[in-house]
Amino acid sequence: MNEQEILKIFKDEKAYLTGHFLLSSGLHSPNYMQCALVLQKPWVAEKLCKDLAKKLLKTKIDVVIGPALGGMIVSYEMGRALKVRSIFAERVDNVFALRRGFSLKKNEKVLVTEDVITTGKSTYEVIDLVERHGAKVVAVASIVNRSDGAAIFSQDFHSLLNINIKSYRPEDCPLCREKKNPLVKPGSRALHV
Ligand SMILES: [Zn+2]
Repeated sequence: MNEQEILKIFKDEKAYLTGHFLLSSGLHSPNYMQCALVLQKPWVAEKLCKDLAKKLLKTKIDVVIGPALGGMIVSYEMGRALKVRSIFAERVDNVFALRRGFSLKKNEKVLVTEDVITTGKSTYEVIDLVERHGAKVVAVASIVNRSDGAAIFSQDFHSLLNINIKSYRPEDCPLCREKKNPLVKPGSRALHV
C-alpha cells in the first residue's frame, strides 16, 4: 500500500479528522489523528503490520517490543507478521521497565515499534530500556511518523505513513480567525457523530 492508501484507511476509520481541534498540549490543529480507531479492527491492524513487516524482510529480528499502551498492538501484530515473540514495556515510577516476566537476552536483536511517532521521546526511552538489558535494537518501525523529521534514530527507521500535522498557538491560529469551524476537543462526543 502507498501512503495515499494508508491515509485513506485512516480517513475511512475516522481516525484522521479535518476541522479545528484543541490538542492536549493546548495547541490548535486542523487535523486530529487517533491510531487506536484504526487498530480497533484487528483485521486492519493485521493488514497494516503485514505491510510494515515487508520493509523489514532483510533484518534479522528475534523479538519485537512496544511501549504500553500505544505500541502494544503494533508490537503484537508485528510479532505475528515476523513470526517472533512480542513483548511490551510499561512505565514504573515513570521509567519504562519489563514486567510480567518479560525478559531480553544479551545480544538479542530487537525491533522497537510504535503506533504513532510524534517526538520520538517514548521510543528513545524503550531503546534505552532494551540496551540496559544488553540486547540490541536493530530497527524502529511505526505505522505513522508525524515527527516531521524531528525523530531521528541511529537504527533503521520505517513508517507506513509520513505526515506533517500542523499545530498553532491559540493566539496564532488561522482557524480561530476564520471562525468557520468551532474548536473541538478530541475525545469529546462531537468526534463520534
Ligand atoms: Zn484555533
